Amino acid sequence: MKNNLWGVRMKVCQFCGFERKDSDKKCPSCGGLNSTIAELIAEEEANIEKYSFKGRCKRILNAENSKDAFFHEVELIKSGLTNKGVFTIFLIVAFVFALVISVL
Ligand SMILES: [Zn+2]
Repeated sequence: MKNNLWGVRMKVCQFCGFERKDSDKKCPSCGGLNSTIAELIAEEEANIEKYSFKGRCKRILNAENSKDAFFHEVELIKSGLTNKGVFTIFLIVAFVFALVISVL
């Protein structure tokens, strides 16, 4: 791995040798996927975190408008509703309820 003139981390495509940005998973030249297994795992973990109860609570707490963020999360969950989703909604409602009670 090396830096180019602009300090952007560059990698070379493992298929065609085209110099691509580190953040580009797909080679702009040949379209080959250049993710290493470690990168794929990190991505997967980020996704799991994103859709986990912890991740959702973190987003709600970090949002400037917690109420809007909360309803946004509820909408997201509704769009992909499963038994687990219903449980997550219940947890979030309980969490927000506890939060409101502690503020009051
Ligand atoms: Zn390529």
